[in-house]
Amino acid sequence: MIKKVLVANRGEIAVRVMRSCREMGIETVAVYSEVDRKAMHVRYADDAYLIGPAPSAESYLRIDKIIEVAKKSGADAIHPGYGFLSENAAFSERCEKEGIIFIGPSAHAIRTMGDKITARKNMIAAGVPVVPGTTEAIRDLKTAVEIIKEIGLPVMIKASAGGGGKGMRLVKREEDIVGAISGAKSEAKAAFGDDAVYIEKYISSPHHIEFQVLGDKHGHVVHLFERECSVQRRHQKVVEETPSPIMRHDVRMEMGAAAVAAAKAVNYHGAGTIEFIVDDELNYYFLEMNTRLQVEHPITERVVGVDLVKEQINIANGFELPFVQEDLNQNGHAIEVRIYAEDPDNNFMPSPGIIKHITEPLGLGVRHDGYAYEGYEIPIYYDPMISKLIVWGKDRKEAIARLKRALYAYKITGIKTSIPYLVRILDVPAFIDGRYNTHFIEENQELLKPLKHCTDRCQDVAAITAFIDYLTKLEQRQPAVVGKDLANNWKDFGRKRAVLRL
Ligand code: ADP
Ligand code: ADP
Ligand code: MG
Repeated sequence: MIKKVLVANRGEIAVRVMRSCREMGIETVAVYSEVDRKAMHVRYADDAYLIGPAPSAESYLRIDKIIEVAKKSGADAIHPGYGFLSENAAFSERCEKEGIIFIGPSAHAIRTMGDKITARKNMIAAGVPVVPGTTEAIRDLKTAVEIIKEIGLPVMIKASAGGGGKGMRLVKREEDIVGAISGAKSEAKAAFGDDAVYIEKYISSPHHIEFQVLGDKHGHVVHLFERECSVQRRHQKVVEETPSPIMRHDVRMEMGAAAVAAAKAVNYHGAGTIEFIVDDELNYYFLEMNTRLQVEHPITERVVGVDLVKEQINIANGFELPFVQEDLNQNGHAIEVRIYAEDPDNNFMPSPGIIKHITEPLGLGVRHDGYAYEGYEIPIYYDPMISKLIVWGKDRKEAIARLKRALYAYKITGIKTSIPYLVRILDVPAFIDGRYNTHFIEENQELLKPLKHCTDRCQDVAAITAFIDYLTKLEQRQPAVVGKDLANNWKDFGRKRAVLRL
């Protein structure tokens, strides 16, 4: 039985994992880099160890250091979160060798699915539809050009080791083929140390729809339905929702079964995601499998009513899944938005810095997974995501209204954030109607720009309003400090009289 978990990550996901551990009575160990001494995950954990300087290659990616800390601290398991070492087969293997439980899939599953060419071959063998294209790496340009002519333009050139939207090129014209292949190759070489690329047909009007799966170590696999992730900027997800507004019940069941077959093909255990690309006619094709917890996992948790981290831990413990497919249902609608420390009105420039003030949205149906606090400095070294706002509504309409309400209440000052941009997305008719695909952001660029009249002047007014709001709040806090009977003064908070008595 797992009693102490080392979380090999930082930011919101480290805190989120520790929260479930605490509920399960499991102790937590944080690891941190030199710039993360004051980070939330370090404060939240029962125990914390410095593992190196800021750059991740010298800290959060140091397998040796992390294993050393696990041993020193007596942790019996490691949760890798997402990013960093979460899809590193060598890490999973090393944990096993050292007698530490890796809360995630086997090295074999990570390896097979981590290489897109190998994954495609395995999926074809398992009868899961894949995007038409090559099943081998491109060897020479001449054959590549011939294959592309056969498949028909447009095509995607994709790195076999690719991830995070890197190593991918869309080719629309014949004369661009050569440049795209060499571009994808060199980007893949630099990012992943592997320049193998392959060709996929480009699905026009594509929707990114993924299925959450859970498998135990006894061969049981279930899916927890879909997530619609087509609102993307540079192939990176910005808004995710479930159920998908374009999904049909029969297709959902078919795709769910395909996702389960995909996971079973690699004897998958743990939480994983099968990503599909879907066209307007709801033809679906396997894109890739993410062998870890996803950033957007909370929308599934909310709608299906399952704590995915707890299930990951139970699976790692060797328990059987506590449910079968028929027990699982989708209830209502959930949407997640990712809040980044970046300036949406200045080409999404990262905006690291000290957070002066933060007001988190509260209320019915709102979940906020973050890690920043007032006075915290967002470091420049890592992913600029500060938090995720997740809302639930009985239906899509209520979820959108609630998300707007929550985003409106969400105030962060000191740094720029993507909040204003997210609000604009919710006002775009194609989003409101649920008629959007992965081109949503480029097709609606005009609507996503700040209103013309809302220039510097408008922002000044906003700043003044925020300041008045701040002063009013200060004033309201006064009675508690200056009142005679401190112990009973809380009653006065709800009464206007309290302020007047000053
Ligand atoms: P999700 O698919 O869960 O939405 P992303 O694709 O945005 O997540 O990636 C989650 C995190 O993992 C991000 O911090 C991203 O930078 C990182 N990441 C994704 N793929 C890779 C990779 N191949 N190598 C390194 N980091 C990656
Ligand atoms: P990554 O590993 O970087 O996440 P994916 O293979 O999951 O790469 O693709 C990322 C995104 O790129 C998809 O969500 C989709 O928007 C787009 N994409 C990938 N392949 C295709 C394709 N064949 N046709 C159209 N769009 C694609
Ligand atoms: Mg992907």
